[in-house]
Amino acid sequence: MKIAVVGIGVAGAYLMNRLSDDHNTHVVGFERMQKDEHDAVCAWATCENVMAGLTKTCGLNFDDYVLHNGQHMQVDLEGKGTVDIRLKGMVSYDKLRLIQDMTRGTEIKFGRAPRKDELESDFDIIIDSTGFHRNYLPRLGNETWIPCVQYKVRYHPGKEPFGDFYLRAFPSMSGYFWYFPLGNGQVHIGAGDFLKSHNHFVDEFLNKYDCEVIKKVGRPVRLTPPENCEPFTDGRKSIGAGESIGTVYPLLGEGIIPSTWCAELLVQNLHDMTAYRQAVLEKFKIYSLVFKFIKLKITGRFNMIKHGIDMLKLYRHMKSEEERYGMNVKMSDMLKVSQI
Ligand SMILES: Cc1cc2nc3c(=O)[nH]c(=O)nc-3n(C[C@H](O)[C@H](O)[C@H](O)COP(=O)(O)OP(=O)(O)OC[C@H]3O[C@@H](n4cnc5c(N)ncnc54)[C@H](O)[C@@H]3O)c2cc1C
Repeated sequence: MKIAVVGIGVAGAYLMNRLSDDHNTHVVGFERMQKDEHDAVCAWATCENVMAGLTKTCGLNFDDYVLHNGQHMQVDLEGKGTVDIRLKGMVSYDKLRLIQDMTRGTEIKFGRAPRKDELESDFDIIIDSTGFHRNYLPRLGNETWIPCVQYKVRYHPGKEPFGDFYLRAFPSMSGYFWYFPLGNGQVHIGAGDFLKSHNHFVDEFLNKYDCEVIKKVGRPVRLTPPENCEPFTDGRKSIGAGESIGTVYPLLGEGIIPSTWCAELLVQNLHDMTAYRQAVLEKFKIYSLVFKFIKLKITGRFNMIKHGIDMLKLYRHMKSEEERYGMNVKMSDMLKVSQI
């Protein structure tokens, strides 16, 4: 059995690690970035309660990658007060180093974005873990994605604007600005906004607090949930995993844990596409509801009487999964942040 894993982000790295263990399988990874330029474009925030288990499955210790352990997250509501969320497991971590360690000893061809027909003649299974790009699967109509920009910056000691996680919610939940500490004065600051005012926010922040810019990146995040990202296969040899099939929690634009979960579902169901499809739809069912809520808020069509039950379901989901989200979830905070 020959498997190509195309795209070495969180999902691809996890798949390389897990599938390369099988001696009957020859797994080859392809990453379009050159090895020395390979980056994990992302703010690197996640929940250690979940990542610890996923990392352990790959024979690694998540503690070794943690950069900043969050205690509190301040959410600024732009002139309408602030919300202080107690964190219980939210961290920033060295995502790139974990990807590199997960794939250590596996066969990866860097600087390669192979053509589909090339792969089809050489491989039995082609896994599309190209994230937003989804190059090897049928195009989707009516997609929703949010454009983002991010800087990695360094502040002089003692000059950091904030000591912990900080968010600024944009009006109508159209997006948010983030400030995620990475330790040693380094921080990821960035923003995503459906209304495309994110660049202006980030520029303003950069001008306000003196810092050294290390790197600037930008890419959209797919928010369309798995239910609307079908088909997950092209009906031939290609199968999607991770953000390529919409595994991003739409309320937060958080894709690390969901995409790694999705990769694990593929490992478990590699030879049964019907079972894989079912498992993905089941696991990420709530994402459709969350997505609907976000769309209603952004378009100003949210109505508490009509949609209150959905909001309650969303709250109950997050409340019952505080450990998974790494934060204390309160209805009063949710109402304030959603500006209801
Ligand atoms: C600015 C920003 C900040 C974010 N912050 C967070 C955060 O803090 N926490 C969180 O949980 N989520 C965050 N996300 C979302 C998260 O990064 C993604 O949802 C998650 O990384 C998806 O994982 P993936 O492996 O499916 O895809 P990706 O991580 O996108 O990896 C895809 C890989 O495929 C490669 N590739 C693309 N096309 C090809 C091709 N044709 N051939 C070969 N290789 C290809 C890319 O170079 C990349 O390495 C953020 C996203 C953005 C854009």
